[in-house]
Formats: sequence, structure tokens, C-alpha cells
Amino acid sequence: MDLLEHQGKRLFADAGLPVLPSVCVTAAAQAVAAADDLGLPVVVKAQVKTGGRGKAGGIRVCATRQQVEAAASEVLAMTIRGRRVEAALVEPAVEIEREMYLAVSCSRVLRGPVLVFSRSGGVDIEQTARDDPGAIVRRPLDPLLGLCDYQVRDVVTAARLEPQAVTPAGEKLPAALAHVVRALWHLYEESDATLCEINPLVLTATGELLCLDSKVTIDDNALYRHPEIEVGEPDDAREAAARAAGLAFVALDGDLGVVGNGAGLVMSTLDQIAAEDGSAANFCDLGGGARAEVVKAALDVVLSSPRVSALLVSIFGGITRCEEVARGLVEAFRATEIGVPVVVRLDGNAADEGRAILAQAALPGVEVAADAADAVRRAVAAAREHAAVAPERSGPHVGGQG
Ligand code: GDP
Ligand code: MN
Repeated sequence: MDLLEHQGKRLFADAGLPVLPSVCVTAAAQAVAAADDLGLPVVVKAQVKTGGRGKAGGIRVCATRQQVEAAASEVLAMTIRGRRVEAALVEPAVEIEREMYLAVSCSRVLRGPVLVFSRSGGVDIEQTARDDPGAIVRRPLDPLLGLCDYQVRDVVTAARLEPQAVTPAGEKLPAALAHVVRALWHLYEESDATLCEINPLVLTATGELLCLDSKVTIDDNALYRHPEIEVGEPDDAREAAARAAGLAFVALDGDLGVVGNGAGLVMSTLDQIAAEDGSAANFCDLGGGARAEVVKAALDVVLSSPRVSALLVSIFGGITRCEEVARGLVEAFRATEIGVPVVVRLDGNAADEGRAILAQAALPGVEVAADAADAVRRAVAAAREHAAVAPERSGPHVGGQG
């Protein structure tokens, strides 16, 4: 789960990382009050789970109360890269001397944590990586040894800080950076994060080292042991409904609704759909069980998208018997108004029994495919045909081109 900047900064503060006091607001008047408390100038920052807020105009430096009010109302109404801004963070503005980059992330290639530092950071770390790879320190960390002192020294050396410089708090600047590196590693480890990023980590005109931004991702599988981290509602209402039913749901932008059991099966089904020039509107992974109410919840969430013009249900019975799934489907299809063609594929454990149950139920608009490839072909064709004759689902038959 990605955290918002203000949530990440709370973890930063608890981990002893240098962050400024800040106030998270949801209305312009609150932003003005926060600026009064913090003192002008302030920065008003869009809270949204995507990067590139600066470039999108979601970061505003404000020198007056009027500017704060205007910036906050604009920022709070923004959508950045398709995501609605949820709140704004008001923080004292600082004069930046230098922007640096520091992160610990989980590298799939290295199969472990990796420490990344750049002495010139800011909004374009990707560009720096291409233009001046020497400016970047990249150190794989042994998960058993953790962060070693020599690796901290590598970062401090690369930073080229004035060795005798002293921060306003009276600490040597290189030591302050070493402290930041260690604290970030401990936070990464203790919060079960897969990413802890500070971009920019700034040196201010007054010689202070500050984390101006935070980007933290927590491993979803570890969230249960972090009650201190507020999980919040998923951005998409359907994702929330699916999560409540114990299902994994992902919205995409095609026209075929997909229900499957198991992430691998669903992923390969999406590949097969793409190979047939189709495109999925979404998918829902039933996971292990297949009780009727679970199947029904999956159908509800998948069909809730008006773009769905056909439904593909692909089940491979392992421990789950296809017979049970078929009963669940029959029950769910009888209880739900489908309104689009449905193609079902059942293979594996008790597939014949399952197909027999579907055949006997003779549900209108439901086809049973011979195998997975056949199911995908039929579903893609059905989606195309249905979209051509009925642009509005369950609307009147309008005919002609779609
Ligand atoms: P991002 O674009 O989503 O990564 O948002 P950041 O929080 O990293 O802000 C983007 C940029 O805005 C930073 O790299 C800074 O250059 C600038 N910025 C953020 N806070 C301040 C501030 O307090 N003072 C000044 N002068 N610039 C700031
Ligand atoms: Mn940033």
C-alpha cells in the first residue's frame, strides 16, 4: 500500500528523520489557519498517491494568506494523473540550497533491499540516473547484515558536504546525513516497507538537512501487524466492495469482465485476451473458495462497470471442485440480472460434473466453452458483438455500428 506524503512523514518523524511541522487540511479555510500557526511563507502540497505533483502544479509556495487560500482551493480540486487530490499538506516553505535523493527499496532483481543515494536529486532522479550515473550511489543491502557503516560512509562521501559544516541544531552536517541514512533503513525494516524514499532530501540555506517529501510503500501482506498505519479506503468504490468480500478486484479500461480463480490464471487469461485483440474491463480473482455468495459478489463487482459488454468466467478446479463453482454460478446467475453474454470455462477437478450442472440449468445467455482458449475467443467475440448492438448495457436494442 502506498502512503500519502503526510502519512509517510508521520512515520519519518517517529523514526527520528528530520521533517518540518505540518498540517493536513481538506478545506481552504483550514489551510489559512494552518499557515497562521506555522508562519508564512508556506508550501501547499497536494496529497495524492502519485509522483510528479510538482510538475502537475500540485506544489505551491505561498507568501500571503490570500495565496494560501487560492492555492489550497485550487489544489484540493485537482486531479493528478487520474487521481483525485484527497487533502493538502501545509508546511513552512524553506529556502533550498541543494536537493538530494535517498531511498531504500526492495529490488526484485537483487532479491533484497537496495540503498540509493544521489547528491543531486529533486524532481528528476530518473534523468540524473541517465545523464550522470556516477552521481548515484547504489548499494545492495544484505537483509541479514542490514545497513553497514561502510555503506553509510559511501553515501556521506558521495554527498560532498562541507566536512566542518554544523547544522542549526549543532550537529556536524556529515553526521546528520549519516543519521538520516540509518534512520531511513530502520524505518524500512521495522515498517515492513518495500519503499522508503526521500526526494528531495534538502540542504537548506540555513544549513539544515530536511526531508521535504516522503514516499512510503508498505507490503500489503504485513499491514496486519502495523495498526499504527491507517489503511483507509481504496480509491475505487468497487475495489472497496471487493476487498470487503475478500476478493481481489482490479479495474482496467477494456470491455470484457473477467472472473477467475487464482492470480496466475487471471494473469494468463488477460494475456490470452490481449492475444485475441480483446481487452479486459476489469478482473476479479475469486481466490480459493467458490461459495455461491462469493461468486455472486464477484459478478456484482465485475458487472458494476457500465463498460462491460461480455463476461468471461474461467475456473480451474484444484482443491475447489468445479461442481461447487457451477452451483455457485447457477445460484448467482439466477439472483443477478446479467444483461450481457457470459462464457464459462470449467476445467480440472470435477469439471464434467460442473459442466453438466450448467447444461442442465440452461441459463439464457450463458455459453460453456470447451477449454480456456476457446472461452477467451468466444468471450472476446461476444464482447465485440454485444458492444456493436447494445452500447448501453440492458438498454434498448439500437442496432447499427457501436
Ligand atoms: P513531487 O513533485 O510529487 O515529488 O513533490 P515534492 O514534495 O518532491 O516537491 C517537488 C518540488 O517542489 C521539490 O523538489 C522542491 O523543488 C519544491 N519544493 C517543495 N517544498 C518546497 C519548499 O519548502 N520550498 C521551496 N522553495 N521549494 C519546495
Ligand atoms: Mn518528491
